Amino acid sequence: MGQYTKSAVKSYLCAMELLDGKLASKAIIDSLTLKVAQSKTEGKKIPHLAAVLVGNNGASETYVGAKVKTCAEIGFKSTLIRLEDDVTENRLLSVITDLNNDPDVDGILVQLPLPKHISDNNVINAIHPSKDVDGFHPVNVGKMVQGLPAFVSATPHGIMLLLEHYKIDTRGKHAIVIGRSNIVGRPMSILLSANTQPGNCTVTICHSHTHNLRELCLQGDIIVAALGRPEFVDASMVKPGAIIIDVGITRVPDTTKKSGFSLKGDVKFNEVAPHSSFITPVPGGVGPMTIAALMKNTFTACQERNDN
Ligand code: NAD
Repeated sequence: MGQYTKSAVKSYLCAMELLDGKLASKAIIDSLTLKVAQSKTEGKKIPHLAAVLVGNNGASETYVGAKVKTCAEIGFKSTLIRLEDDVTENRLLSVITDLNNDPDVDGILVQLPLPKHISDNNVINAIHPSKDVDGFHPVNVGKMVQGLPAFVSATPHGIMLLLEHYKIDTRGKHAIVIGRSNIVGRPMSILLSANTQPGNCTVTICHSHTHNLRELCLQGDIIVAALGRPEFVDASMVKPGAIIIDVGITRVPDTTKKSGFSLKGDVKFNEVAPHSSFITPVPGGVGPMTIAALMKNTFTACQERNDN
């Protein structure tokens, strides 16, 4: 249950509902598992995700490991390609070209962040849009902005699936998105403002240069915290009954843990939960939904490639 105690959560549950990403993602994973089993019996192609991991960053290892494990659970094929920290950009680009040209590979993900000597943009742009299951390629971003079918960045896509799972009516609500990164905050703001359900929000996007963040947050019916600053959003920033989506995951030193760290979200959960109507925990909220959305994208990529 992460940084908050079970009894603390229990007492808050009277006032609010936990947006349980483990539960909601399980429904998606179970449905994909059934679909893959059906594909197998029909002799259809099984989705294949190729993950590229550069270096040995602990958090990246954990994220890629979880993605590969989920592929196995569903029955997808997966390949993990490990490259040394000092790999050249050209070498990484040639690995991506090989994966683009491999007809067996349906989805490609390159775990970010990359070492400083490699350009994220060059790498993202090298992935063929039809295999870009992370939804970072400009073609997919452009389509998403226009409301066309596209691979949508897994974290905001996962958050939309979570809102859908809990049947949260977001129409007309004022959403405050804290963070404007290309992979979380910006696509989140676009999806929430789209003419869809969930969606149809009035969105304010905030960032490190935003003035009066507290006052803006207090106007939010929905707050999406994606700034990467542990426990930044406290109760004084939250309007009673707000819906809180905590995207942040930061490893903070913790000598009581065997690993030496614990995971913290961007929201002070114990303090904010009693003020909210719905809230995601960390861990167990947005994280599992991100993986489920990635798996959904990979399944779609496989289907689209085989239908064409
Ligand atoms: P990022 O560093 O690329 O972007 C952070 C954003 O927050 C920036 O746009 C910045 O302007 C804004 N910001 C920073 N300080 C601020 C402040 N004081 N006030 C207002 N805005 C501020 O980070 P990111 O990649 O978008 O990730 C954000 C967090 O979400 C991180 O903790 C990351 O680990 C986590 N994350 C979680 C998942 C998941 O699956 N749960 C996926 C991706 C990212």
